[in-house]
Amino acid sequence: MIELSDIAFAYDTGGFELTAALSIAKGEKAAVIGPSGSGKTTLLHLIAGILVPARGKVAIDGQTVSAMNDKARRRLRLSTMGLVFQGIELVDYLSARDNVLLPCRLNRSLRLDRKTRERADALLERVGLSEAAGRVVSGLSQGERQRVGICRALITKPTLVLADEPTASLDNDTATSALDLLMQLVEEHGATLVMLTHDKSLLPRFDRVVHVEKGVVS
Ligand code: ADP
Ligand code: MG
Repeated sequence: MIELSDIAFAYDTGGFELTAALSIAKGEKAAVIGPSGSGKTTLLHLIAGILVPARGKVAIDGQTVSAMNDKARRRLRLSTMGLVFQGIELVDYLSARDNVLLPCRLNRSLRLDRKTRERADALLERVGLSEAAGRVVSGLSQGERQRVGICRALITKPTLVLADEPTASLDNDTATSALDLLMQLVEEHGATLVMLTHDKSLLPRFDRVVHVEKGVVS
């Protein structure tokens, strides 16, 4: 599902370089672990096609992302990937349901029909947010917002789910239930999961552990 061959990447500001060779199979659940500043988010952004490597090749499901232009990378990201970010950038003035439906509005090839709306509500129900579906998200707790973010990542039925420390800002119990949900939904969809974390206690839940240390992926 993911193939990174002989990648090198550096930010324009210099001082940090990431090198990686990595392949992750379809349906695999991989954790990426490493200390803060080691390059985990940079690696995830290279996989998502948000960043492009200076050297090497990134392929997702057989498609060479690193050779595509911005528009094609964005289209691929919207159609095949679900992204859960650390800060969960929800749109504060929209309802939980409209936040979940956002990827469908951004991607014109996805229909925003009744079935999709029902699917959004079904996802919100799965995460215990039926009653909050119509409520503006600025009034939701951090844990609730995180669950909305997980639903949003899954609305397009992505084959690849990329999560950047999705539980880092949650207390222990909320973090565990958010992770349980993410894992369950990913399994139900037969999707591939790449999740970043610096929490070693989560590792037994994954099929695979990728280590990042000072920009070196192993
Ligand atoms: P992690 O997610 O493991 O904490 P990051 O991938 O965010 O690590 O960062 C790796 C290194 O790259 C750090 O030294 C960080 O300061 C630097 N970095 C991250 N984002 C940028 C950016 N947009 N521009 C310049 N340097 C960055
Ligand atoms: Mg990070």
